[in-house]
Amino acid sequence: MKALAIDLGGSHVTCAIVEEDKIVASESLHVEKAASLKDLLPNISETFIKLSNHTSIPFKECAGVAFGFCGLVDVRQGTVISTNAKYADAPTLDLESWATESFSLPLKLENDARLALLGEHYAGAARGFDDIVMMTFGTGIGGVAMIEGKLLYGKHYQAGCLGGHFPIKLNGRRCSCGNIGCVEAEASTSSLPDIASSWPNFQESSLSREGKIDFAKLIAAVREEDKIAREILDHCLLVWATGAIALVHAYDPELIVLGGGVMQSADLIVPFISSYVNEHAWTPWGKVEVRAAELGTNASLLGAVPVLKR
Ligand SMILES: [Zn+2]
Repeated sequence: MKALAIDLGGSHVTCAIVEEDKIVASESLHVEKAASLKDLLPNISETFIKLSNHTSIPFKECAGVAFGFCGLVDVRQGTVISTNAKYADAPTLDLESWATESFSLPLKLENDARLALLGEHYAGAARGFDDIVMMTFGTGIGGVAMIEGKLLYGKHYQAGCLGGHFPIKLNGRRCSCGNIGCVEAEASTSSLPDIASSWPNFQESSLSREGKIDFAKLIAAVREEDKIAREILDHCLLVWATGAIALVHAYDPELIVLGGGVMQSADLIVPFISSYVNEHAWTPWGKVEVRAAELGTNASLLGAVPVLKR
């Protein structure tokens, strides 16, 4: 099966033509913050026309369009429910009609983190497992769940996809979702500059001369044996591991897949989360396996074929 795949994030949109578990061709466009999705759709259509010409794969050879959106979506109606300050016009758009008019293809809309888990299940680190949670560490933190091979939805499509918003700290930081002390508020790229600058003796760290701090800078400083950077990373690891235990207790997985750019340093992350989870989670049936994701930013694109086959 061939398909058109769209991965729409907060600051990028990637368009790809995929065939089974391979990306045949893809192109990413930079998106200005909080852009209008309506204004972006013609650019997406043009990109697919270019990819179609370049690969000599006409749209009629494709089974459909898989659209991964960075927000809550109603998969039955094919509409966006809530966008958390990105693409505010998305809930008003009829994306299925857009796909019919642009490509004469059906469209399946899905939350991007759910699509990434489908991709890892189909072609990546989660092959062979049917009970999985995935945590993705990016600007925010995604957490999705699959139980007995099925993605979890719930009445309002929120079940299993708000793992980054499990509260783990009373009197913690205010989260972008409105809650206090979420995993995302206590250890994500968006909260890291604030966490670092308020860390005791932060001025002793080389990071204090770094400008805006992200996990790449933090981990580089850890590898240079910066003591404060190590303390901050240890804090983040503990937040993530605590969130992982909440996911284990909620969804009963046999596998936790960890994704996001920070997993380029999986050697500093996977062993800690694995041992912490297996020391503290209540799993009398055995041990939860913890693995790094394999597909990186391609995961949600490779969720296209499984989502269109459903
Ligand atoms: Zn939150």
